[in-house]
Amino acid sequence: MTLIGKMQEWPLTVNKVIEHAKLNYPRQRVITRTVEGPIVETNYAEIHDRAKQVSNALKADGIQMTDRVATLAWNTSRHMETWFGAMGIGSVLHTINPRLHPEQIAWIANDAEDKILFVDTTFLPLVEAVKDHLKTIEKFVIYCDADGMPETSLANAVSYEAYINGQSQDCVWGDFDENTPCGLCYTSGTTGNPKGVLYSHRSNVLHTLMTGMTDALGISIHDRVLPVVPMFHANAWGLTFTCPAVGAEMVMPGAQMDGASIYEMLTKYKVTTSAAVPTVWMMLLQHMEANNLELPDLTRVVIGGSAVPERILRTFQEKYGVEVGHAWGMTETSPLGTVGSLTPEQKKLSEEAQIACKLKQGRAPFGVEMKIVDDNGKELPRDGETSGHLLVRGMAIVDTYYKGAGADGGSILDKDGFFDTGDVANIDENGFMQITDRSKDVIKSGGEWISSIDLENIAVGHPKVANAAAIGIYHPKWDERPLLIIQMNEGETATKEEILKQLEGKIAKWWTPDDVAFVDSIPLGATGKINKLALREQFKDYKLPTA
Ligand code: ADP
Repeated sequence: MTLIGKMQEWPLTVNKVIEHAKLNYPRQRVITRTVEGPIVETNYAEIHDRAKQVSNALKADGIQMTDRVATLAWNTSRHMETWFGAMGIGSVLHTINPRLHPEQIAWIANDAEDKILFVDTTFLPLVEAVKDHLKTIEKFVIYCDADGMPETSLANAVSYEAYINGQSQDCVWGDFDENTPCGLCYTSGTTGNPKGVLYSHRSNVLHTLMTGMTDALGISIHDRVLPVVPMFHANAWGLTFTCPAVGAEMVMPGAQMDGASIYEMLTKYKVTTSAAVPTVWMMLLQHMEANNLELPDLTRVVIGGSAVPERILRTFQEKYGVEVGHAWGMTETSPLGTVGSLTPEQKKLSEEAQIACKLKQGRAPFGVEMKIVDDNGKELPRDGETSGHLLVRGMAIVDTYYKGAGADGGSILDKDGFFDTGDVANIDENGFMQITDRSKDVIKSGGEWISSIDLENIAVGHPKVANAAAIGIYHPKWDERPLLIIQMNEGETATKEEILKQLEGKIAKWWTPDDVAFVDSIPLGATGKINKLALREQFKDYKLPTA
């Protein structure tokens, strides 16, 4: 007879996270700036209890195991209640990114076969505009009070408070297989239709444990965390689970993510940790610099989604004494893939050398395996120099897209079970990874690769530059050469020479862009990253002066 482990079966289902929070940190607060304006407070006990009311309301509407329940909503406590309420009964919480094109939103809702949609009032016009294309949604729950219901042309719409009012706070949660799906999030779909990533209870719980490790997100019960990163952006990088799991308080920004609003929430509620993409931090820092403001309580920010520009890193660390955790990941990795927490050896290096380490994307926490390969799938050395396609494997990483998308009947994994991230990176002997580009963004000049990320990061180091993007433009001799596209700070101007001077000495000479183009604004995609596809379209007929 084979011997098996003699320990308890304790299915890893996410309802256990909020149940744990209710029992152990009932009065730890979740503070929300509501979409209507006022700031309201609740706590983990109340979120748990109201989530049960959501569960009962969903059950009364016939929502069953694995049915998709969609949200089009900002980070708020009501949104959190809906998550745990839907997931607790085994239905799948599908976060839709409202910044996508309305047609894409309708496509995604139909592909997911969403049955019910919870929506913030700010997105009502958006939903009303595409309502005739929504084929599967039977009911709309509007996040508002019973007496605050706005006028709407949506059929079968109800206010959130009326929807859960009178429902019991008693409901059986969990009690199903840990591999039951619990969340659905579509990738941004910069090429073709978006693809759905279907998280399981197990993968989300394991991801929660992983993010809760000190060298990962580094948060504890002593923290107040402001997730600026939206819940529709890969589960707010897991914070919607990690905070209740460790007992950290949450400060939810609602719909307002401009510099002044974020600053107000950070200081008013003495936030210790926050997480957002670089563009958000850029807005905050500009607001603070313009108004001579301080950040007395903030100790750490997690920055990811795109590479951290050196200027942001230095300003946080050197001017405000805030530690920066540079993170890399993607929807397909739940999303945490690496964090740039320094090793003891790195901490012994000079300040400047430490900054260089922190600009890299960092180390894989336990549960993530990485390798880099060449075009033929052959593994490349971990020498911190050789770069190749970044592949990942692990306990919370996609195996198959929802409905098998993107696989052409085959697998999206290689023969060893690794997923190709579409990023190009190098890894050093200590496992520190550095993204040099996205595969489709690398600039291929004379058979060699130029990192668009490097050019951009150095360019935004110029104090007058608001944003920068580098793309490859056709060149008859070199195939492609870099064009640097610059958005200046309001009211500022610069010459091409001035911008190129900024790069001098910091890159190999042959990387120097062949031209600089100035634009009023660099287009951003649905998750706040530079939309290179739009830029390539805009500059498709561009002729380089060197061509
Ligand atoms: P998310 O929605 O979580 O941003 P996406 O799937 O839209 O995930 O995008 C993931 C991609 O974002 C990565 O493959 C990578 O190209 C880019 N990215 C994320 N974090 C970083 C980072 N710290 N540095 C550079 N690129 C990053």
